[in-house]
Amino acid sequence: MAENSPKFRVLIAGAGIAGLATAIALSRISNVPNLDIQLYEQAPELNEIGASIALSPNGMRTLEKLGVHNALTDENGFRGPSGIPQIVRHWKTNQVVTVDTHVNVPDPRHHTTRFHRGHLHSALLQHVPRESIHLNKKVSGAVATDEGVALYFEDGTEAHGDLLIGADGIKSRTRQSFIPEYKLKFSGKVFARSTFDASILEGKIRDLPVDSVHWWGPKDNFFASRLGKGQYTTVGAYDDGRTTEELEKEVSWDQAGNVKHLREKYKNWNPIVKALTELTPYTRLYPNYAGEALSTWVLAARVTLVGDAAHTHGGAFAAGGSLALDDSFALALALRHAFSLAQPGTFNNGPSNVRRALELYDQTRRPHTGRLLEIVHGQINKKPEVYGSPEEENLALISKMTNRPDTTWLSEHDVVEAFQRVLENQQGTRNERTGAQKSKL
Ligand SMILES: Cc1cc2nc3c(=O)[nH]c(=O)nc-3n(C[C@H](O)[C@H](O)[C@H](O)COP(=O)(O)OP(=O)(O)OC[C@H]3O[C@@H](n4cnc5c(N)ncnc54)[C@H](O)[C@@H]3O)c2cc1C
Repeated sequence: MAENSPKFRVLIAGAGIAGLATAIALSRISNVPNLDIQLYEQAPELNEIGASIALSPNGMRTLEKLGVHNALTDENGFRGPSGIPQIVRHWKTNQVVTVDTHVNVPDPRHHTTRFHRGHLHSALLQHVPRESIHLNKKVSGAVATDEGVALYFEDGTEAHGDLLIGADGIKSRTRQSFIPEYKLKFSGKVFARSTFDASILEGKIRDLPVDSVHWWGPKDNFFASRLGKGQYTTVGAYDDGRTTEELEKEVSWDQAGNVKHLREKYKNWNPIVKALTELTPYTRLYPNYAGEALSTWVLAARVTLVGDAAHTHGGAFAAGGSLALDDSFALALALRHAFSLAQPGTFNNGPSNVRRALELYDQTRRPHTGRLLEIVHGQINKKPEVYGSPEEENLALISKMTNRPDTTWLSEHDVVEAFQRVLENQQGTRNERTGAQKSKL
């Protein structure tokens, strides 16, 4: 069948984490014969951009299933020596208030791992044929019919295929082409991120924790961790009173920040945080946006989304990288299932078969990410608390820290099991329908 099948042309908009992972998953897991995968990326070159990114156990397991073993090494990513994802400390006293834990992660390679985003990106890149990635291709729009899909680029060129996957990030043009009314909202937080050589800190900060640490303040927080390849990261996440419109005009994603501003923000925090800001050499700013959950990820019979384009959760719980990997895997499983249903000797890339695959993918991933988006919007829409005294505010902070919701459902999610459940539910519904029809007869 494979040799005689026509090509199945897949267009992927965006060659970030989700785009590359999807290319790998489709070529290794989907079993769709004669796949022709092309990626279109706006960037002129694939530099090591971004700052730190975390992958939780679900993401690490999926990387392994994808065969991206080079990303699992201790060299590439950092896993805390205590075997815990992160320690949560008080902003002023530096006391450990609580810690995140792994619940069922027997293999230490699957423990939460922190990378420079560029290193994770490069590890994925090694598994994607370089000639399939087209740079300087900024998507301006997309259209789809039952017969095919087309991507249009700002340079006036276009590409045509059988399946379009929008992996073009939180501000996805692919999504915008099919849901033009979709809007993102500024969450009120800006992240000032930096990554630098860990040797900069060597011997300079007394009692600098060896594990990843999240210091919580009443409004703002601060994160610091080692990363793979001898790197270190600091991240200040603070409230910014500007509206979405003001912010969009004044701060762009990945814009250079002013490190003096970071130092000023955290100058009254405990001595370790203060010292970390003083040694942080620069910052880049990442205003945090989020959007409502989409009502479907099947944008047309042959169009879907993966990664931040599909779920605009704004980096909450540092889940974006892992979710993107799981999206890619679920999409490959769904295509494998739909294409395996074709009659032997035939190749069914018709719109109803492709749609069936996309619906399976949607049912596997959308409810899961929808649960996350509900939490995110609950937090954004929460009215700020007013306290009668600093003591009262401090007690409320400690209570918030100790009563953090359990997010194991997110960090240890099993995407294969979720996909199987969707299939079983469908089978169950079909059996019920057949049973009902039989009993009518
Ligand atoms: C420059 C950059 C830096 C980042 N830094 C961090 C970080 O420090 N920490 C963190 O947790 N997360 C970071 N992220 C986000 C993180 O990578 C994602 O949340 C997560 O990995 C999901 O990946 P994604 O592929 O869906 O989105 P992204 O990683 O955002 O990738 C989207 C890709 O699509 C491309 N693209 C966007 N629009 C178009 C278009 N119109 N046409 C063609 N290509 C397009 C982008 O250039 C990018 O390569 C960063 C993203 C980017 C793009």
